[in-house]
Amino acid sequence: QREYHIVVLGSVGGVGKSCLTAQFVQNVWIESYDPTIEDSYRKLMEVDGRQVVLEILDTAGTEQFTAMRELYMKSGQGFLLVFSITSMSSLHELAELRDQIIRIKDDPRVPLVLVGNKSDLEEDRAVSRARAFAVSQGWGSPYYETSARRRANVDEVFKDLCRQIIRR
Ligand code: GDP
Ligand code: MG
Repeated sequence: QREYHIVVLGSVGGVGKSCLTAQFVQNVWIESYDPTIEDSYRKLMEVDGRQVVLEILDTAGTEQFTAMRELYMKSGQGFLLVFSITSMSSLHELAELRDQIIRIKDDPRVPLVLVGNKSDLEEDRAVSRARAFAVSQGWGSPYYETSARRRANVDEVFKDLCRQIIRR
């Protein structure tokens, strides 16, 4: 059975990394999650008829040493870069994270998905779909909008990432 290491990254400012992870792994909506908790979870998933085990690291961005970040970037095989569609700065912050991943993995084509979370908050939208899509195109990565609250597009994001890893 194949096991893939996935890392969920994004702004520390509450973009929904933990809520997305909890929805995917446990099918639960958690209204408030301790922002300092960094933990990993395992989930069995079927992708194109094959069973895979995902080991998902939900990061908190509070690591004191960049060496720790380097370590999980090195061991990660696929990355979810999450921002909130209600915050333009949360999208901007991802460019640096992506650069860091590519530098550490020494691979410009590392499996990666750009995720605009909180799609249920359409009235508070600060990042247009077109803007985020253009960023993802520049990266050569897919873009998804998710709602952890409504569990919209959550499985799709992880499935896409798995397919990218498998194709490598
Ligand atoms: P993290 O710091 O990136 O792990 O963010 P959390 O998962 O802890 O979520 C931060 C805040 O955003 C919490 O108050 C959540 O209830 C809220 N949140 C997360 N995902 C969504 C979503 O899809 N829709 C809405 N409306 N709120 C969300
Ligand atoms: Mg969190």
